[in-house]
Amino acid sequence: MYLTHLECPRCGDTHDADRPQNLCTCGSPLLARYDLAKVGQAVRPEEFTRRSADLWRYRELLPVADDRYVTTLGEGWTPLLPAPRYGESIGLPNLLVKDEGLVPTGSFKARGAAVGVSRAAELGITHVAMPTNGNAGAAWATYAARAGLRATVAMPLGAPTITRRECVAANAELHLIDGLISDAGRYVGKLIAASGGSPGGEIFDASTLKEPYRLEGKKTMGYEIVEQLGWRVPDVILYPTGGGVGLIGIHKALQEMRELGWIGDTLPRLVAVQSTGCAPIVRAFGAGATRAEPWADAWTVAFGINVPAPLGDELMLTALRDTAGTAIAVDDEAILADLHEFGAREGLLLCPEGAACLTAARRLRAGGWIRPDERVVVLNTGAGLKYPETVDVDSLPVVDA
Ligand SMILES: *Cc1c(COP(=O)(O)O)cnc(C)c1O
Ligand SMILES: [Zn+2]
Repeated sequence: MYLTHLECPRCGDTHDADRPQNLCTCGSPLLARYDLAKVGQAVRPEEFTRRSADLWRYRELLPVADDRYVTTLGEGWTPLLPAPRYGESIGLPNLLVKDEGLVPTGSFKARGAAVGVSRAAELGITHVAMPTNGNAGAAWATYAARAGLRATVAMPLGAPTITRRECVAANAELHLIDGLISDAGRYVGKLIAASGGSPGGEIFDASTLKEPYRLEGKKTMGYEIVEQLGWRVPDVILYPTGGGVGLIGIHKALQEMRELGWIGDTLPRLVAVQSTGCAPIVRAFGAGATRAEPWADAWTVAFGINVPAPLGDELMLTALRDTAGTAIAVDDEAILADLHEFGAREGLLLCPEGAACLTAARRLRAGGWIRPDERVVVLNTGAGLKYPETVDVDSLPVVDA
């Protein structure tokens, strides 16, 4: 394993990666650091093509030492699909959709859960807990069961009901919360405190960015996009941003690949896509702020991005500025219209979060921020099948056969 330590991006402190860790003493999330010089000697990019079609192909850049702890259901290496018909219709013939709907548990959260649970098991953690907007809880419950860990999940009532069922099916301890993910977070905090606190006590706090390895799983989307394009970067990547783990992870992957010399200096412009019903990062980016203020009365049909006070705000804003990217909010009506338009033209039923990125791409093209010849990657972060209510069939007539 090439993992050397954990580093605080805010105060620069380093932390021991060989024992369970949560936040830095300054309150910032921690980032996993590797001996990239040694990684560069151990593996060449061409070698990955001969490896398994899952995220573990990037083994040297992942934080698990012993293969016995690798907990997998075949996650990763999802298709990067051209979308020429829809793309032409919005003036972006080089539009690509990375379909994370094909990942186990039907969302890219499985990437974070696979790596996070594997590392937790390796560090001797036996019980994880987290708040979730649905998909993360479902994924962590699933991978925890596979690794033989206990999982406690707190989820708002508004989360997609299938994600509740996934938690129950995997025998997680599920708590339904009449509130938002931030309320679920406070509730989990109390449970953990009562069990001796984290990381020292009985239950480990695996909340978004409060543990450093979920990010490592999600960063593999960045490696895959670049490998699938022949070790070239696209011009723009649009990401539906809630907690921001995928955005921060893709940025981290790009920085690692640049340091490894696997890509050049120019990074793709990263775009944080949010809903007009919950857009703390868009507001902070527009104001030139380094931190985001909590969003009041958050609501959107794209439930995975309904995160009013993300812990990774600083890191997200850094990722956007560092790549000359931007942040944009789109409304629910437009999201659903683009979801239907895309399905009709390309056949793939997107999740609303993925559809939000299409709306954003369309608007950024219309405003000139994206040029017509640019290669644009949109992340479809989950399977449309998890959100059946986005397609209305109640008004269909029943024929008399
Ligand atoms: C969690 C989630 C998101 C947001 O992901 P972050 O990395 O937390 O910003 C987007 N889409 C779906 C389907 C999700 O489940
Ligand atoms: Zn710090």
